[in-house]
Parts: sequence; C-alpha cells; structure tokens
Amino acid sequence: MTELPARRLLLVHAHPDDESINNGVTMARYAAEGAHVTLVTCTLGERGEVIPPELGHLTGAALGGHRRGELAAAMRALGVEDFRLLGGPGRFADSGMMGLPDNDDPGCLWQADVDRAAELLVEVIREVRPQVLVTYDPDGGYGHPDHIQAHRIAMRAAELAAEAGCPVDKVYWNRVPRTVAEDAFARLRDDLPGLPFEKAAGVEDVPGVVDDERITTEIRGDGGANAAKTAAMRAHVTQITVAEPYFVLSNELAQPVFTTEYYELVRGERSGDGDGRESDLFAGIAGTDGITGTAGIEVAS
Ligand SMILES: [Zn+2]
Repeated sequence: MTELPARRLLLVHAHPDDESINNGVTMARYAAEGAHVTLVTCTLGERGEVIPPELGHLTGAALGGHRRGELAAAMRALGVEDFRLLGGPGRFADSGMMGLPDNDDPGCLWQADVDRAAELLVEVIREVRPQVLVTYDPDGGYGHPDHIQAHRIAMRAAELAAEAGCPVDKVYWNRVPRTVAEDAFARLRDDLPGLPFEKAAGVEDVPGVVDDERITTEIRGDGGANAAKTAAMRAHVTQITVAEPYFVLSNELAQPVFTTEYYELVRGERSGDGDGRESDLFAGIAGTDGITGTAGIEVAS
C-alpha cells in the first residue's frame, strides 16, 4: 500500500499543451506544495498544426508520439509525475477543428461514446480519489470538438463516480475574467512593436472568457510557479512559441500568458469568506487543510 497525499487534484484536458496554457501555475503550485496532481489528457493532438518548419514533417501518429514527449517534458517542468492519456495512448484520436471531415473519423474523440469514455475516467477517479476536478465549460472554452468532449466526459465521470460512492467534492471550469483579458490585451497592443510576433489575438480568441462576477476562485503564481508555467509551455515546441509574458500558437497571433489562473466553481460548496474569491481550490474541503497532511488515503499499489 502507498499513501496518497491529503490533497488530490485531477485535471482533464483535450490535447497536450492545454494543461500548461490553462493551468500551469495551478499545477506547479499544488505539486510544489505536496498535493497529488493527476492530469488526464484525452488525445495526443496528432491533428494539431506544427509551428517549427524543421518539425513540419511530423503528422499523424508521428506527431502524436512527438507530442507525448513534449507533454512529458512539460510535466517535468511543472513537477507533475502522474499524467495519463485517457484509456491509454492513442485510444482516442484528435478530432481536428470543428466542421472538418476529421470529425467523422470513427476513432476520434468526437465520435466516442461519452458514457464509455467517462467510465475510463472513473477508473482514474476510483484510484486517485481526487477532491477537486478541473475541466472546460460546455463549449470547451472555444468550441473545439475535443475540448467539448473532454468537458462532457469529465462531467459525466463526476456523476458516475458519485453514484459509485467516490464523489469529487468540487468541480471547476477554466475561466478568464473579461476585465483581466481586456487589460492584458491593451498592454499587449502597446508591447507588440517590441515583440517577435507581428499580430495580436483579441479577447475573443481566449477560451473561457466570462464576466468577472462568474469567477469564484483565483490561483496566483509565485516566482517558481510562473517560471514553471512558461517552461512547460516552451516544452510544447510544436505548438507554442513563448516570448514572455506573451506567446503564440500556430495562428501566430500573440496572446498574454496568464500567471494568475481563474476558475468558476460549478459543483460543490464555495468556501465562505464573504464575497471574496477563493484562493485555494481545496478551500472548505474537510481533511485537506494540512498541505501535505497525513489524512491521505491508502491505495493498493
Ligand atoms: Zn486543445
């Protein structure tokens, strides 16, 4: 038997790189504090576009294998040891962008049966017993089919796990408050002439932007977590180019790197300190006060 730490966080994402962009600070911070951080990525992202010309020959399974290596490097940067592909590597193919014929590939995540895919995630929940689950909103943040499916699978798994006596205490969706995004893009427009990027994205290009009132929780990075996040983003060489505090994806549109990460609590009880935002995803969950605590659970190993 090995004992897991008292605090256990599960994140569900669509492709390698989404975790570092959305939750790099959060993952690094909790890992550094001794929490057990589990990442489940649903596909290898083998239909993603490749940025560096010298890696442009990578497509399909070769790209998926390469991105698996990038994910491992990113997890080293964040200090996260427990990262998995849903159902094992290659079980679900990247579905490509919405509306493409790729969406009809019978092996792709978009075509997966949500209940059956969710059962695979329930196996992870039963093993790790996370108190906190983080995923996307119903639109997947920005409408990508794999992000929408990752949301459905994660939410269904939370239901099934609760029915199986393994409830997750809190479920959060990744968010960015509108005013934070607007301020960051205003700074970006000023900084753009000095950056190695030619054009800027806009607020509408950032997944999960909502009105500030909906934000329940914010996780602030410190020096170590911020550096870990940018290192993790840089590890996704085929997908991301970083010039701090900005980055581009394959569309070459500059975006800010957010070193405070924001969440909307959608299941579970918001920790009650008035109108203020929570500063801890585990706030109010019994038995998780100690950072590394001994109130962990024993699991067969
Ligand atoms: Zn993605």
